[in-house]
Amino acid sequence: MTRIHLVKGREKSLQRKHPWIFDGAVKEKNAAIPAGETVVVCDHNDNPLAIGAWSPASQLRIRVWSFDPSETIDREFFRRRIAQAVKMRENLGLLDPDGGCRLIYSESDLLPGIIVDRYGEFAVLQLLSAGAEFFRDIIAQTLLELPFIKGIFERSDSPVRQKEALALRAGHLAGETLPEKIIVRENGLDFEVNPAAGQKTGFYFDLRSAREKIRQLAAGKRVLNMFSYTGGFACAAFAGGAVSVVNADSSAPALEQCQRNLELNGFTGSYRNICGDVFKLLRKFESENAKFDMVILDPPKLIPGKSAMMRGCRAYQDLARLGFKLLAPGGILCNFSCSGAMNPELFQKITADGALEAGVNAAVIARLEQAPDHPTLLSVPETFYLNGLVSILTD
Ligand code: SAH
Repeated sequence: MTRIHLVKGREKSLQRKHPWIFDGAVKEKNAAIPAGETVVVCDHNDNPLAIGAWSPASQLRIRVWSFDPSETIDREFFRRRIAQAVKMRENLGLLDPDGGCRLIYSESDLLPGIIVDRYGEFAVLQLLSAGAEFFRDIIAQTLLELPFIKGIFERSDSPVRQKEALALRAGHLAGETLPEKIIVRENGLDFEVNPAAGQKTGFYFDLRSAREKIRQLAAGKRVLNMFSYTGGFACAAFAGGAVSVVNADSSAPALEQCQRNLELNGFTGSYRNICGDVFKLLRKFESENAKFDMVILDPPKLIPGKSAMMRGCRAYQDLARLGFKLLAPGGILCNFSCSGAMNPELFQKITADGALEAGVNAAVIARLEQAPDHPTLLSVPETFYLNGLVSILTD
């Protein structure tokens, strides 16, 4: 195995068990090593520190597989790590065969670049780094060894792969073929998911705790559910006793799926699905002086990179302002950010500024984050990305 050396002083993050090594920290940063190959990471004195995957195209030149430099990265290694990740989900009570969960969450499960969502007996795999791609076959075979997995579908079509010079790929990978539609059960609700065509791997398991909270608070409420996707929050709200729900999303197929999910759960109550731009729609509702008892705002990542910080923050604030404006007295706003660049303190400040602009007083009654199958690894704070605030009007 090739030995790679760090610039003096750049071993500090490794000592704190952070698995990312940027090109600027690597002496041989232009070494002719094939993408994804395993290398030994040494300090400037040639002392081995870790084992990682080489990614020649990415600024993130090495992702560490193991902080034990004597470890071999082979089938056994992936068996152990995957078993560990599965065990955690089992402990969390998330292995219900009719349900689903995130089985492997990349760095948080010490498997950088590997994401696996389980839909019933099928796994949907996303490989996002050169190292993950290198071990694709072993990872797929190891997943198929799990007694509760009978087929694997690949959704390695996320644009982040371009940073690693990896082509986008989606399709059947191993075992039984994924049916076009799968129904997963969560808290007594059924959700139809289409992992081959949906966003990400098809369903947002990270919002499970948020769905629960919204269900608890929805009784008797007229709900405005913006960026509804396939209606997870709409079903949760009806299950909690909401009297009406207005959903909106720019994706027509997502809204069709939303409609089917509402029907599947027998929610024949009052709902509307609007296909369009939420930013425009909220302004239209504002001009009509429409009022709701609960407004949910769950936009896509509005800060995709550091350069979009200012613009993204303004968009979050704009949404919060409009959301607060549309609340009837005593109403509740649930606003979210899934941008990794956002932090809880800043999100609260933005939400506060939105309330100020809307001319309302509000108080936070709950804070939401990604569900436990997307844990935040303490040594890798970047694994935290989902902020949610539940605020209630106080006058
Ligand atoms: N709340 C959803 C997940 C939202 S994901 C859930 O519970 O599952 C973000 C959604 O925003 C996607 O469905 C995407 O189609 C939609 N979207 C993105 N930009 C939009 C815009 N400007 N107006 C309306 N919808 C938009």
